[in-house]
Amino acid sequence: MSTVIVKTEDCINALTTNGFEVFFANTPNAAKEIFFNQILPNLPTKTMSWGDSMTLDSTGVLTELQNDKSINTIKTFEAGVARSEIIERRRQALLSDLFLTGSNAITECGKLVNLDMIGNRIGGISFGPKNVVIFAGTNKIVPNIESAFKRIRNISAPLNAKRHLLETPCVKTGKCHDCNSPQRICNSWSIIDKCYPKKRIKIVLIDEALGL
Ligand code: SF4
Repeated sequence: MSTVIVKTEDCINALTTNGFEVFFANTPNAAKEIFFNQILPNLPTKTMSWGDSMTLDSTGVLTELQNDKSINTIKTFEAGVARSEIIERRRQALLSDLFLTGSNAITECGKLVNLDMIGNRIGGISFGPKNVVIFAGTNKIVPNIESAFKRIRNISAPLNAKRHLLETPCVKTGKCHDCNSPQRICNSWSIIDKCYPKKRIKIVLIDEALGL
């Protein structure tokens, strides 16, 4: 059995022990099928929102959910909408029934590690929404908390800053300078050791390299 498979299996077992409900998908499309067939039918959902995640985007789940007229979608990203309105929607998103997002890193011992600019994503993961579903590629699995910090600071954050067209030093050099930029993307860390209540956070682990 390959090291990668053992690492993924160990991670799934550890996440389950830590109270997360874990699903495994081979592709983003399979993750979407799992979400609509095995997860959503068991969650009473009148309101839904999300935190920024390229992996979530890759599944197509958001597009399909927004076509469901029985669910009120709180759009936390929308072109042409004033920044103040977007921030207000992100506040309201913390009271939604269902919150979808990704994770910057998942340790082999089953902990979620994330870093936010504003905090709306880690806020929603920690408390507020009744249920959370996280979509993450197996490339996000790291050996431990230290390697999670390293991965996020040196890979995820600079590439996310670039993706959002921010003017931070890392966009120019591709590495972190622990900057004091007004557009600094690295402001609030979150480590979820265990899921409380159990199974409130569901993780769809996708067997591909996805997101940042
Ligand atoms: S602290 Fe600043 S330089 Fe470092 S990754 Fe974050 S935004 Fe970039």
